[in-house]
Amino acid sequence: MTGFTEALPALRDAVRRDHARYLDDLRALVELETPSSSPHAVGRAADWLQQWVVAMLGQSESHTRHDFGDHGPTLVFDYPGQRPGRVVLLAHYDTVWPLGTIEDIPFSVTDGVIRGPGVLDMKAGLIAGVHAIRHAREHGLALPALTLVCNGDEELGSPASRPIIEAAGEGALAALVLEPGVGWDLKTERKAVGVFELRTTGIESHAGNDPEGGASAVHAIAELIGQVADLNALDEGTSVNVGVVTGGTGRNVVAGSATAKIDTRATQVSEMERVDTALRALRASDPRVGVELLGSWGRPPMRHDETQRPLFERASAIAAAVRAPLGRRSVGGGSDGNFLAARGIPVLDGLGASGAGPHARNEHVLEGDVDDRILLIAGILASVGE
Ligand SMILES: [Zn+2]
Repeated sequence: MTGFTEALPALRDAVRRDHARYLDDLRALVELETPSSSPHAVGRAADWLQQWVVAMLGQSESHTRHDFGDHGPTLVFDYPGQRPGRVVLLAHYDTVWPLGTIEDIPFSVTDGVIRGPGVLDMKAGLIAGVHAIRHAREHGLALPALTLVCNGDEELGSPASRPIIEAAGEGALAALVLEPGVGWDLKTERKAVGVFELRTTGIESHAGNDPEGGASAVHAIAELIGQVADLNALDEGTSVNVGVVTGGTGRNVVAGSATAKIDTRATQVSEMERVDTALRALRASDPRVGVELLGSWGRPPMRHDETQRPLFERASAIAAAVRAPLGRRSVGGGSDGNFLAARGIPVLDGLGASGAGPHARNEHVLEGDVDDRILLIAGILASVGE
């Protein structure tokens, strides 16, 4: 922490003085709506980000824009360091909010609460990350080389940006994920999420006149749902839920088709494999009924293991200097940090902003925490790998 603690009082004043500028930058990005499903709209925000990041941090050593057509662009900015090693900052700028949400929930700052579509998840974090880099540099803190990744398809599971994120993480000292935290806690464990659909196809017939001629897809799926539910292993951190079941066309018809939608979560790769294998092996006891499984596991799990602990402890010491030591949270869903944690890179997730209601209409950021978050990110950047 050499350097950071000494610089902290001056840094704190500077961040406070710049608070209005932070809000202006956040407003500009929030008002450029970026639903993941509208790559064109996401692309317009990418244009703005390219100019803004360069205005804030200067022309980057290399600056790549990956356009994908059906997914929002991913931007990668590389900056040289003043000391060895490199840190990756991950920020997505797409949101779950459809175009026009800004009319219902305009950007606002009232009584210490910042609102607007995507403000918590995670535009406030992206803006905070860039402000933190600038403040750290202006106060003469020696930083490692930095790679800032801004992706526009995170809310879709990062299908197009995943290889770019993995490449950016290669050889990095650490990855800082600018997703929201929970209060002053970071997200140190995130489960893997699997989304599957089970489909059965039987033979339709009249239930009264020709029961033997039919093979019921509904009876078959009912039988299989029991087997799916048996895959739960809550002690192992694995949950398997059949959330939606549909099937059949009429009370007196032996059903020709049925589906079951499955959500599954796990904290261990071995458990992901166990569930995957079992789901793929499902067969109906009536051999005339076909069984098909669609879907897959998404991001791998992130655990608070030996690779992760030292970085967290270091960040917590910095947080203690800024305000208080960090707490830890385990959450059900994944982030882009999971990709890098799975590759053995230390990850700090949940650095972006504090507030509540991601993906909900009460989404908001607590204005009073913004400055401390910027200081925390700056302090971590100044200390990682030191
Ligand atoms: Zn997010």
